[in-house]
Amino acid sequence: MQALLTGKSALITGGTAGIGKAIACLYAAHGADVAIFGTNQTRAEEAVREIEAAKINPSQKVLYVLVDVSQSKEVERVIQELLTSWGKIDILVNNAGITRDNLLMKMSEEDWDLVLNVNLKSVYNTCRALTRPMMKARAGTIINISSVIGLTGNAGQVNYAASKSGMIGFTKSLAKELASRHVRANCIAPGYIETQMTEGLSTSVKEAVLSKIPLGHIGRPTDIAHAALFLGCDLSSYITGQVLAVDGGMVM
Ligand code: NAP
Repeated sequence: MQALLTGKSALITGGTAGIGKAIACLYAAHGADVAIFGTNQTRAEEAVREIEAAKINPSQKVLYVLVDVSQSKEVERVIQELLTSWGKIDILVNNAGITRDNLLMKMSEEDWDLVLNVNLKSVYNTCRALTRPMMKARAGTIINISSVIGLTGNAGQVNYAASKSGMIGFTKSLAKELASRHVRANCIAPGYIETQMTEGLSTSVKEAVLSKIPLGHIGRPTDIAHAALFLGCDLSSYITGQVLAVDGGMVM
């Protein structure tokens, strides 16, 4: 296997579980230094063990930072510390995300604010801290993990859908701002992927989702990681401002 990210350094928010951890492990397996952000120390320590096991060179750096990505000042501080220590971050993956589902008429302001802050304001926080150094370096790639729900909407998820559509508008605008400096920004829109986020759904909901997937099976975190590898490496150097659905054909 050819290593595609040798010499690159990557920051993955929500790298302590699910899709983010799969991306972190695959990036390490392709030679990258990997930093993950999360809030749960036990999960972070376990994730670091898995990422360490995946790396291909003992000199590759792996670390976690406990930080709530919705907190602007904290995010700016830890990214500055990381830049001071590593000198650069080549790949930013905004993957941290949560759901607080309810019909709009029953949705609390707290659940609206929480989902928008964790899923969307976090993207503003990390990108704002990293665009200047990436522009200066005239290199970098940003990958925002949106969702097919941001493309289609879904009853019971106005907060989540708004955050995920918002990521798409944000990414296209940022791609236009950064393209002249050779910094790229793209979205991945996963369909239904087996993680702790989806494990709580009822069997009837899972069956209903499955019936809408032309490829006939639920996705795995590694399916998203493969797309993130492509968008994170030079194989995608002529692609910016795009939304890549990785969903078994759910949304065509
Ligand atoms: P997951 O297994 O629940 O993992 C979520 C990750 O986000 C965890 O690492 C969690 O870390 C982190 N996180 C949550 N709140 C955070 C905060 N305030 N600050 C920092 N980190 C935080 O979810 P997943 O299924 O892998 O989802 C990953 C991304 O893919 C999300 O953006 C999600 O919306 C998107 N997505 C998922 C699916 C799916 O079917 N699973 C479909 C479409 C899109 P801690 O636990 O350490 O806080």
